Amino acid sequence: MPPVFRFAPSPNGYLHLGHAYSALLNFDLARQAGGRLLLRIEDIDATRCRPEFEEAIYEDLAWLGIAWETPVRRQSEHFAAYRAAIDGLSEQGLIYPSFESRAEIARLVAGKEAAGPWPRDPDGAPLYPGTARSLHTDARDRLIGQGAPFALRLDMAAAIARAGEFCWHEHGEGPAGATGEVAARPEDWGDVILARKETPTSYHLSVVIDDALQGVTDVVRGVDLFRSTSVHRLLQQLLGLSPPAYRHHPLIRDDAGRKLSKSTRATGLRELRAEGASPVDIRRLVGLP
Ligand code: GLU
Repeated sequence: MPPVFRFAPSPNGYLHLGHAYSALLNFDLARQAGGRLLLRIEDIDATRCRPEFEEAIYEDLAWLGIAWETPVRRQSEHFAAYRAAIDGLSEQGLIYPSFESRAEIARLVAGKEAAGPWPRDPDGAPLYPGTARSLHTDARDRLIGQGAPFALRLDMAAAIARAGEFCWHEHGEGPAGATGEVAARPEDWGDVILARKETPTSYHLSVVIDDALQGVTDVVRGVDLFRSTSVHRLLQQLLGLSPPAYRHHPLIRDDAGRKLSKSTRATGLRELRAEGASPVDIRRLVGLP
């Protein structure tokens, strides 16, 4: 079976040199391996994703000379698949609803921090204190019945107890040079949100379901997602999905060493193209042959 690679952008802005590097690397690796390249549109966040950004993704990738298989999978068309996975985890007793607003969580954490340091996740956000985990079923049902907004969280301790210990195969390099068989550390993330009342999925859940449904064998993406891979591996274990291999690549940075953002015009592909850059120039700028 030929290997299957994918590039999975979110249409919440225009692509920049960092996306070009990731997309071209996936394209080159797929070609070298005689494999397939899929394009997936990760558009679960209806408040930030826009059709014109999706159109621009197709246009910019085609301009770069990248070819992908169609039809393109758009995550917003597959909420039922993600909901089925949530139901499966729920049946295992690993999901609970939490009703606190962001401000309430911040207050709870501030209370914890008054007593000493409180752990933060790899993105720097304080871990959810787990307050709603012990809410009685009646109280949960009443709040849901009243229409209260909620997030569905993974009971991390219970999930890890169920899944045991596991690794992933890393062809790239994570922080501190981690490569080869990397031990997953999902506990670093606490009780992550897997779905919300208004968006019945999350990045972590949909990426795992789609990589499995699409038969992806090789996930090649930025090193900023290296530590999220622990959560992805945990979900694969719990849902009985076979894991792809991972290659996390370095990020393209601006002259000041900052991670590129979709709003920085200087490194936007459209701006570079308007200034006369060619696809060959883009390859040279991101250090690809
Ligand atoms: N959609 C994610 C992003 O644009 C990438 C997801 C992934 O490659 O796993 O950052």
